[in-house]
Amino acid sequence: MADEQFSLFSAGGDPGTDPSSVNFDAIPTDGAVPIVPGIYPDLATLGTHCRSCQRCSLATTRTNVVVSRGSPTAPVLIIGEGPGQQEDEQGLPFVGKSGQLLEKILESVRFDTEKDVYVCNIVKCRPPANRVPTTVEVNACKGYLLEQIRLVDPKIILLTGATALKSLLGVKQGISKVRGQWMEWEGRLCMPIFHPAYLLRNQSRDKGSPKWLMWQDIQAVKAKVEELSEG
Ligand code: SF4
Repeated sequence: MADEQFSLFSAGGDPGTDPSSVNFDAIPTDGAVPIVPGIYPDLATLGTHCRSCQRCSLATTRTNVVVSRGSPTAPVLIIGEGPGQQEDEQGLPFVGKSGQLLEKILESVRFDTEKDVYVCNIVKCRPPANRVPTTVEVNACKGYLLEQIRLVDPKIILLTGATALKSLLGVKQGISKVRGQWMEWEGRLCMPIFHPAYLLRNQSRDKGSPKWLMWQDIQAVKAKVEELSEG
């Protein structure tokens, strides 16, 4: 089955499905049970399901399920690809070198990382050797992510890197081409940005370099959050 067809049928279940008709307790153990919109009453219940989840084969190789960190009422929701080694060990997203750089980037425009952002990933369990998650894994996990977005209800979603962009918005263009562009998805404002790991591999701060471009993008995000907060 083509990627697109698969995602149509399995991403998060039919939006028209009545949550009360779904076998709620079977969600973490049966990947065929859809995670339909509105099924979770709160993020705590969702987290409990995630931490016992076996909907895809990543459950067999993970150490910890990595659900989120940050504020559940944050105006900015940041989505990465998946947990790396340190995230897997600690059970928190973006805690390795990439995470430290992300903190610095956010703090540079005075975002409070405890209050202003909620951070999560496309898949909640580490793919072995940090490979890109497969379409099957992304779709098994996607319903959780869609529910996190619904419950946090952010003003802005930042997609770090090509996998996050493709998995949520279906946009397959390279991140260099589309970073910094405002996009609309499901009535929400989104911006693709470079993944911090990419910035770590490209240390130049010269005008036009990835780090310089990230600085432009995060300033645009800060300005937009302020604009939306005033309105
Ligand atoms: S990656 Fe997502 S769907 Fe797969 S086992 Fe982990 S929490 Fe469940």
